[in-house]
Amino acid sequence: MEMLLTFLGTGSSQGVPVVACGCDTCRSTDPRDARLRTSVLVEVRDVRLVIDVGPDFRQQMLRAQVRSLDGILLTHEHRDHIAGLDDVRAFNWVQGSPVDVWASPRTAEAVRRDFSYAFAPAGIKYPGAPEVRLHEVHNYAPFDVAGVAVQPLRVMHGSMPIMGFRIGALAYITDISHIDPSEIERLRGIDVLVLSAVRLIPHPAHLSLQQAIDLFAQIVPRRGYITHVGHQLPPHAEMQGLLPSGVELAYDGLCVEL
Ligand SMILES: [Zn+2]
Ligand SMILES: [Zn+2]
Ligand SMILES: [Zn+2]
Repeated sequence: MEMLLTFLGTGSSQGVPVVACGCDTCRSTDPRDARLRTSVLVEVRDVRLVIDVGPDFRQQMLRAQVRSLDGILLTHEHRDHIAGLDDVRAFNWVQGSPVDVWASPRTAEAVRRDFSYAFAPAGIKYPGAPEVRLHEVHNYAPFDVAGVAVQPLRVMHGSMPIMGFRIGALAYITDISHIDPSEIERLRGIDVLVLSAVRLIPHPAHLSLQQAIDLFAQIVPRRGYITHVGHQLPPHAEMQGLLPSGVELAYDGLCVEL
């Protein structure tokens, strides 16, 4: 095994079940229909990184028993992808160092604004505030996390350009509504492709299920997984019948070896 991908959360912005919702998917007793906010853990040799730190980050770190982190990659600044950043304090304490975070300049600016207390000057900064070393990724330039090469991908989320990531034979793209053909070129030869799809009918800022299926057919990874799943999609058990072979609906806790 070269790499291990663990789905820490596979739900859309509100998670599944949605608070106060009585739909079939939200009432499902199938554990695969209980979805925390979208995030993955990627382990390459002894390097461990997380893509996105939503409001469920703490619970996800406990559930997956993650004891150290080498870096966090942020796709974009929506709350369901950054709200848990305060909880890196646990890793600051255990590792005795700031946590490295990579983000686009716009997302980095949002992080500095939303977590301003973590970026206060020495002397003013509250002792015990999160320690974050923020690395801005300009123009989708490749970078590495503790020796693991990461290629950012330019993805559109409605009218907003955000980042997907290619790491070796894995490509992880959430909150996508469009990707240019030039970026699809960067996905040649991938083994595992993760794409988001929130519901059956089109959405202005997300792929529908059919649009995601069409994109899998265009990119042709060996294995495809769907994440950022909304409660508007049918319960997990009914979903596999709607998907072509080679494409699966991810669920929280699913581990994929590459
Ligand atoms: Zn989202
Ligand atoms: Zn519901
Ligand atoms: Zn979003």
